[in-house]
Amino acid sequence: MLNVDKIRADFPILNRTVHGKNLVYFDNGATSQTPQIVIDAIVDYYSNYNANIHRGVHTLSQEATDKYEEARIKIQKHFNAKHSYEVILTSGTTHSINIVASGFATLLKEGDEIIVSSLEHHSNIVPWQMLCEKTGAVLKVIPMDQDGSLRMDVYHELLNNKTKLVFCNHVSNALGTINPIEEIIHAAHKFGAYVLIDGAQAVPHIKPDVQELDVDFYVASAHKMCGPTGVGLLYGKEELLQMLPPYQGGGEMIETVTFEKTTYAGLPHKFEAGTPNICGGIAFGVAVDYMNSIGFEAIDQQEKELLAYGTQELEKIEGLKIYGTGKKASVISFNLEGIHPYDVGSILDKLGIAVRTGHHCAQPIMNFYCIPGTVRASFAFYNTKEEIDALVTAVKKAKMMLS
Ligand code: PMP
Repeated sequence: MLNVDKIRADFPILNRTVHGKNLVYFDNGATSQTPQIVIDAIVDYYSNYNANIHRGVHTLSQEATDKYEEARIKIQKHFNAKHSYEVILTSGTTHSINIVASGFATLLKEGDEIIVSSLEHHSNIVPWQMLCEKTGAVLKVIPMDQDGSLRMDVYHELLNNKTKLVFCNHVSNALGTINPIEEIIHAAHKFGAYVLIDGAQAVPHIKPDVQELDVDFYVASAHKMCGPTGVGLLYGKEELLQMLPPYQGGGEMIETVTFEKTTYAGLPHKFEAGTPNICGGIAFGVAVDYMNSIGFEAIDQQEKELLAYGTQELEKIEGLKIYGTGKKASVISFNLEGIHPYDVGSILDKLGIAVRTGHHCAQPIMNFYCIPGTVRASFAFYNTKEEIDALVTAVKKAKMMLS
């Protein structure tokens, strides 16, 4: 059982007020809050050893390099990658996906097929559409059901010998659905297709084991799991990262450069052109340590309780409809009948409650339900039942004011 009061003390921002009310932060799906230990790591870097890495002979550069590479190893261990050089530090999920999508542009041919799920964030749709435009590959979509789950029967029918790539999120950001990625990966491999799993919304809740999953690529952002923005992960199996061409050219990613020919550095540097987000990478490592110190079992237990309680209490409000009711993470996406989600969100904000409203960068899901968007309350392990009570009271008030 988590000591939530003690945990909340780790997050200075949770003490602030918004419009004179105690902040209730339920926008964790967009970005999680940052514990003091991560803030301290950022301050420590800029106060004590700010330097460029990998090329300096001086002490500061060596210290920064060591810390950055230590962070890579922490992230490797967390995701259970076989080698630390299979962990590419990127600017986030979007960057990671684009590295893979642009790499496959040289490897696909006309008529090849790519499968994406209908539950994807735009960042796991648009790069693949761009890839199809470049290569003549065809995009196929796994449809969804009313309860927000994927039509796995159709997925199995879509797979064939022309399927080269499959992309799916681990957890949907708009609905919270936890997708059966084991089955997705296993089935794709039978046809020799590679699978990229977008773990952006999974990593705050689940500790993925990339070797056990046998996944080809797994991507995520640090800022969804108590780390800073502007840094993330591209995990790839060694042989696949070797196979893909570099994404960007520049310093750090080369072995030798002449005007006749450049040879590229080995992994992970081949995909890390230019000065990286050094401080962010180091802080990402600290965030990983912090999440593990809380423990993913305890996180899961706390969030399951919040999800069950929140669902039960919100469902009591007449005219409130929840979207996505299958197996899911601690996300409640809902609407009040006849009321625009933006209006609900604006009133909640006046009451100190931060939620996300709109299409959540997942317009195909909104089109499926024929709605402009939803109000999304996404819970983290530092949230409480009292905060859910505040949400429920505020939603009732919004309903009264807007009906
Ligand atoms: N995929 C999913 C499922 C997401 O929720 C997000 C962030 N909302 C992204 C990708 C993109 O992440 P980032 O903006 O950190 O690159």
